[in-house]
Amino acid sequence: YRKSLELLKGQESITTDGRHVELAGNIGSPNDVSGLIKNDAEGVGLYRTEFLYMDKEDAFPSEEEQYEAYKAVLEGMNNKPIVIRTLDIGGDKELPYFEMEPEMNPFLGYRAIRLCLDRKDIFKTQLRALYRASVHGKLRIMFPMISSLEELLSAKEVIKEVLAELDAEKIAYANDVEVGMMIEIPSAAVISDILAKHIDFFSIGTNDLIQYTCAVDRMNQKISHLYNQFNPAVLRLIKMVIDNAHKEGKWVGMCGESAGDQRMIPILLGFGLDEFSMSPISILPARKLINSLSYAEMQKFGDEVLAMGTAKEIKEYVDKTFNM
Ligand code: PEP
Ligand code: MG
Repeated sequence: YRKSLELLKGQESITTDGRHVELAGNIGSPNDVSGLIKNDAEGVGLYRTEFLYMDKEDAFPSEEEQYEAYKAVLEGMNNKPIVIRTLDIGGDKELPYFEMEPEMNPFLGYRAIRLCLDRKDIFKTQLRALYRASVHGKLRIMFPMISSLEELLSAKEVIKEVLAELDAEKIAYANDVEVGMMIEIPSAAVISDILAKHIDFFSIGTNDLIQYTCAVDRMNQKISHLYNQFNPAVLRLIKMVIDNAHKEGKWVGMCGESAGDQRMIPILLGFGLDEFSMSPISILPARKLINSLSYAEMQKFGDEVLAMGTAKEIKEYVDKTFNM
């Protein structure tokens, strides 16, 4: 099996009937680039920049420090597309140098894009670093935890301000930077037809989308049996998001754990997902699976799955169909 994976390096990720998908990697630091290359990642689908902030002890990372980190990833990946997610702090992710008030429900609280729109100084520093780094590769910027059109438009407004500043300072940046958002909150999925008009791409974050759709804390072991990627409500939301984006001619990725899951890949492929971003070690196994599947058959399979009422039924159907 190992050997058959080695042989897939440098190969395309393409179904038996010719549908191409992009298999990208999730990373948390420029040090992870070697793992991406080793596993033949076709890009980065999620660079979680919060680690850059969490690794600091006494202050936010400066614009310069951030610029260097983003540049290292962009250059290290040789012009492959790199999705860098803006700061997703809060919830369980704290910073030693930034005091946050204790909250009753931190996962429903002051975090990610909410914090960035409130603290534009922090947000702008990151956006400046990102756009400055954009000349070194193919950058895609992504906002986490968007729950409404207002938030998306506000975030894009901050980008405009930053670009005006860079223009005034005669600082160069690429003019083909794609701007997208995560779909990880049900309210965003529900209005994805509207949001799709204002972005270049979506990336579905199933880790949080499952948590928020099913009202199941993703860390709570006691209710982990309720946290299920095959939940039909979650699958219907995913399908809806992909269809809504495609109607606007936009592409859709997934960077939650489900994207690299061998049982989920056939379903997601059938739903029309364009990019799968996963832990680098899952990339070659995913390519092996995708290269063995027919897109037309998976579309039918996906439709059958969408008609099912329980996660158990769906999972058993997947297992039976693919001998898992
Ligand atoms: C997600 O929610 O699926 C996701 C990719 O983001 P994180 O796991 O960093 O919350
Ligand atoms: Mg998330």
